[in-house]
Amino acid sequence: MTLFDSPSFEGHEGVHSFFDARTGLKTIIAVHSTARGPAAGGCRMWPYASADLALEDALRLSRAMSYKNAMADIPLGGGKAVIIGDSRTQKTPALFEAFGRAVDAVGGRYWTAEDVGVSPVDLSHARKTTRFVAGLDGHPAASGDPSPVTAEGVFRGVQLCVRRALGRELDGVTVAIQGVGHVGALLAEKLAAAGAKLVMTDVNAEALKEVAARTGAKVVAPGEIFDVAADVFAPCALGGAVNAETLPRLSARIVAGGANNQLASPEIGRLLFERGMLYAPDYVINGGGIINVAGEIAALEAGTAFDAAWVAAKLDRLAETLGEVLDRAVAEHRPTHEVADEMARARIAQAAEAKLAA
Ligand code: NAD
Repeated sequence: MTLFDSPSFEGHEGVHSFFDARTGLKTIIAVHSTARGPAAGGCRMWPYASADLALEDALRLSRAMSYKNAMADIPLGGGKAVIIGDSRTQKTPALFEAFGRAVDAVGGRYWTAEDVGVSPVDLSHARKTTRFVAGLDGHPAASGDPSPVTAEGVFRGVQLCVRRALGRELDGVTVAIQGVGHVGALLAEKLAAAGAKLVMTDVNAEALKEVAARTGAKVVAPGEIFDVAADVFAPCALGGAVNAETLPRLSARIVAGGANNQLASPEIGRLLFERGMLYAPDYVINGGGIINVAGEIAALEAGTAFDAAWVAAKLDRLAETLGEVLDRAVAEHRPTHEVADEMARARIAQAAEAKLAA
């Protein structure tokens, strides 16, 4: 199968592969769409078993960024970079300087940022050789940790889903949270303040104990979170939380959380819908983080300081967009994830046409 026949290639504008002999850097930068603006998405460093697997991941993730950015209504397209290597043993400043040169060679059509295996320190090395880097500390345009903005967006999304599916406010509603890291802990605080009852888990026992004490939550073992009696299941750990094994165990009417790729497959989303459950599409509800990053890119481009008011307005708009997805899903009697994908594709296509016509 050639690159062009791969199902993941669908719609991509370009794929760029770079090798740097001096540092051993092998990186793939996938640009899915620049219709709405320069492609933006983080850089992932992972010990992929083959270049084909790295390419597949870059393609899948860059398209997902196009959809996320379109639904967040920010002036950015979708892209992603992957570096083939072990982030624990193979990171050097020179490697990230070489990565920066690769990003620069894409000529501003792709902006990079943090993702799994890549830290702000690594990005500071990339910044020496390209200006197309977001997520750095210590400059007036810097957006800082995106987690508080993500958590606020997720909190509003949970609140909206509870109103729609249960016809009530959060007071007294039980939420089961899987993962209380950056996003999950902040979400838990907001939910507790709104009167929700919390059940939570994490594989990190220390963090779990601390967040539970702070929020008055009940604690369960990681494998038990799918079996607790709850109104909302909020995945805030890794991907694939809702799968063929866990779905039948969930009693919640609502699935809404901060994690990426919550559904193990699109088919699971349909099964969830058929069980009468309401799913807040992950890349819509967790768009707060990329909105924050978009604020930094806009400030860097304009040479101004980070504008928190712009970010706040986009976050308001994000809640409206989620509402539109839920409305359409009800009106058309379709799963929310299918509606969200369709809306994202339409937004991208509309921008592409407008760009051609200009
Ligand atoms: P994090 O690493 O700070 O938190 C994840 C937590 O999940 C950790 O405490 C970890 O111990 C726990 N965990 C891992 N596996 C688990 C399991 N099997 N059961 C229970 N707990 C488990 O990450 P984060 O920044 O809070 O992000 C959480 C999720 O949200 C990720 O999927 C991330 O991609 C997504 N997300 C984050 C942001 C952001 O702004 N941070 C934005 C968009 C999406």
